[in-house]
Amino acid sequence: MNLRLAGFQPDSIVDGPGIRLSIFVQGCSHRCPGCHNPETHDPRGGSEINVGRLIDLISNCSGIDGVTISGGEPFEQAAPAASLSAEIAGRGLNIVFYSGYTFEELWAKSLNDQDIRSLLEIGWLLVDGPFILNEQDLTLPYCGSNNQRLIDLPLSLREGKAVEWRPLLMEYLHRSWKS
Ligand code: SF4
Repeated sequence: MNLRLAGFQPDSIVDGPGIRLSIFVQGCSHRCPGCHNPETHDPRGGSEINVGRLIDLISNCSGIDGVTISGGEPFEQAAPAASLSAEIAGRGLNIVFYSGYTFEELWAKSLNDQDIRSLLEIGWLLVDGPFILNEQDLTLPYCGSNNQRLIDLPLSLREGKAVEWRPLLMEYLHRSWKS
């Protein structure tokens, strides 16, 4: 199975907690004004890569805490993203997703799409919602605009509603960056 890929970033510390391998998928229908990755919008851009080759790449990354799948829009390539995510989780790495869809929108889609359901079930955190230029806030950890949330996926699925991930350290960091 192939994934259309825009690129990847080893040793990222800005795409989720800890040291992460960030994978940027190609193609995004949201087209948010002010998006930092406009080159990832065209679904015909980037290049196709076999999921197995991506797994080899991940296997060769030592010292990472997890993998972030960003974009582009990962949930618009749900089938290969689900296949990739299952392999990542099988290696004991946590997964952070970025999506222009909200948790509620993805949950609704997941009722008719098993791959989207699998992604929600296997992920650790979801940075959800489109980037809104008027709400841009450079002090937010891992998010670009105030509407975006850091969703705790296992807890949200258990409670049947979006639950934000707010560890005490995050609160402290955010207050420090604001002051
Ligand atoms: S969802 Fe993300 S990648 Fe897509 S246009 Fe918006 S900010 Fe850019």
